[in-house]
Amino acid sequence: MPTLFISDLHLDAERPQVTELFGRFLHDEARKADALYILGDLFEAWVGDDDPSETGAFVARELQALGAAGVPVYFMRGNRDFLLGDAYARTAGMTVLPDPAVVALYGRPTLLMHGDTLCTGDVAYQQFRAQVRNPAWQQQFLSQPLAARVAFAQQARAASKAHQAGLQDKGAMETITDVTPETVAATMSRFGIQRLIHGHTHRPAIHDLDIDGHAHQRIVLGDWYDQGSVLRVSPDGVQLEAL
Ligand code: MN
Repeated sequence: MPTLFISDLHLDAERPQVTELFGRFLHDEARKADALYILGDLFEAWVGDDDPSETGAFVARELQALGAAGVPVYFMRGNRDFLLGDAYARTAGMTVLPDPAVVALYGRPTLLMHGDTLCTGDVAYQQFRAQVRNPAWQQQFLSQPLAARVAFAQQARAASKAHQAGLQDKGAMETITDVTPETVAATMSRFGIQRLIHGHTHRPAIHDLDIDGHAHQRIVLGDWYDQGSVLRVSPDGVQLEAL
């Protein structure tokens, strides 16, 4: 039975068909897996565990049922759902992983990340990230009324879209919103691990790399905008597939 990796579902009430597809995936393929890893951006936005979203409640129920069926579920926060809290994770029966995290998959050490910290070419984004990942900022944000938090999230999404449109105009979208190769090499060397799995960039691929004369592999998970995407890891190897 393989171990499954997914990320960047961006679940949202506005795209119910993707939430349905995810529900089917949890009932079919995921039931037969050794474990399910969700490497961030499970949700399009997350403003606090007290947000009474139907999508959030549905996903918690379905993930809880998967865990109860004997399949462990691991979750790493992404840049959209970094405020997903321990209370929600408990309800969903997920174990929260730090970013980065190292796991052994069938004896092979593997580095897991959401992937946004590898995009060091996007200086403006990294500055924003440093601000919103500060525990004091988060505490202050979460103490605001729900309506104010929802408004902030909408504003942040609009600002992010404008930022990306600006990069597109400058012809810098391809390089700046993708990982920086030097950062990938430095990160893998720092951990001394030859396999990395991450999402975030929505550029699904298996990259074979030569770092300091040694074979490394960087596996990028796909998003769930127009279809699903899953990575299957087994003792025999890896398989990346659209659903
Ligand atoms: Mn992301």
